[in-house]
Amino acid sequence: MSRSLAIFGATGTIGDNALNLVDQHRERFRVGVLSAHSNTQKLADLARKYSPDVLVIGTSEGREKLRQDLPDFKGDILVGEAGLLAAAAHKVDVAVLAIVGFAGLAPAMVCAAQGGILALANKEALVAAGPLLMRTASDNNTQILPVDSEHNAIYQLLQVQTQETFHKSIEKIVLTASGGPFRQFSLADMAQVTPAQAVAHPNWDMGAKISVDSATLMNKGLELIEARYLFDIDPDRLDVLVHPQSIVHGLVYFNDGSVLAQKACPDMRVPLAYCMAYPERIASGVAPLDLAAQGRLDFEAADRDRFACLALAEAAMQADGDAPCVLNAANEIAVAAFLDGQIGFASIGDVVDAVLQSHQAGAVDSLEAIVAADAGARHAAQQQIKTMR
Ligand code: NDP
Ligand code: MG
Repeated sequence: MSRSLAIFGATGTIGDNALNLVDQHRERFRVGVLSAHSNTQKLADLARKYSPDVLVIGTSEGREKLRQDLPDFKGDILVGEAGLLAAAAHKVDVAVLAIVGFAGLAPAMVCAAQGGILALANKEALVAAGPLLMRTASDNNTQILPVDSEHNAIYQLLQVQTQETFHKSIEKIVLTASGGPFRQFSLADMAQVTPAQAVAHPNWDMGAKISVDSATLMNKGLELIEARYLFDIDPDRLDVLVHPQSIVHGLVYFNDGSVLAQKACPDMRVPLAYCMAYPERIASGVAPLDLAAQGRLDFEAADRDRFACLALAEAAMQADGDAPCVLNAANEIAVAAFLDGQIGFASIGDVVDAVLQSHQAGAVDSLEAIVAADAGARHAAQQQIKTMR
């Protein structure tokens, strides 16, 4: 029997990779739901190709455009956040959540309440509301499978562990980081970089926001927090290792000295295939890893002095409560301002730092509390940016 899929954020780079797997396995997957925010043209093309039951688009104008472009479409066309939430309640076997940013949290919460598999690419949801999201999933028997390549690697490495052996035998979980396009830049050189340079990642083809996060190493900081909640592991047992080739994605250190590592060519179809077919394995179309041709794998420590965003994220992870949510919100605003030419690359960390410094700690016990913390931090970040222009 084929599996039904919902793909939220279908027009992005993760959406492209998920749909590429559908193309390779048409007999295995049936697309039930597709969402986009503003790219009506691409969503209309995808609707013609995959004939889903439900489409979601950001605005009512977008819906009008889709109705005109798709006169024969018989399914529902839903709009905005309410539309996303209604679509997330649609029963599917696997929901791939690949919306970028905090906007993914509310639909992730609804998906987590449905049962089935939630293939979660949107790391910001776990950063902002990790405990709440994980609890909702476990209360409703929803299996959250991480799409993020490092977390997918760790998830695979932990397959033989039970809850009890996990806490007894695992010393440390390590996420690798490519180091991004500015790995060898001095602070002075980094102050000059442009948005075009920052979005040109050496190993991965990704959306603009996560590409900038990879360049500041905020992405790795967000990923530590993501791992902290996903695997329920103490911050002191999480670390980062810079590995420029992005072949090793994650490592688990055991108390007997053994270290397991997952390796694959850097292509998001590998973790997506794992999540979409789980627990089976399917071909992903990714070239087999040729270690002889690869020749060498390099590793180095992360430099928190040049990459202050990593240290800021680690501090927010230690602080816990709503600090990760505030960090994430301030970062989203700062990255958007950088991409818009309002602030320089080095100021991204300064904005996040200033917002965290002035933040009064709060709890993250309800979605309402998280939404309020997010909104407050966005406002504070915008005020901070005004003082910098
Ligand atoms: P993209 O920017 O390529 O795509 C984002 C998707 O989200 C698009 O479909 C976009 O629609 C939609 N979207 C944007 N804003 C909103 C909104 N406010 N409400 C609803 N939908 C919205 O991002 P990526 O595919 O690169 O990343 C998606 C997520 O996956 C991110 O959280 C990222 O951190 C995570 N991730 C990505 C990886 C990668 O390799 N790309 C690796 C690991 C994690 P539209 O096109 O219409 O604007
Ligand atoms: Mg990652």
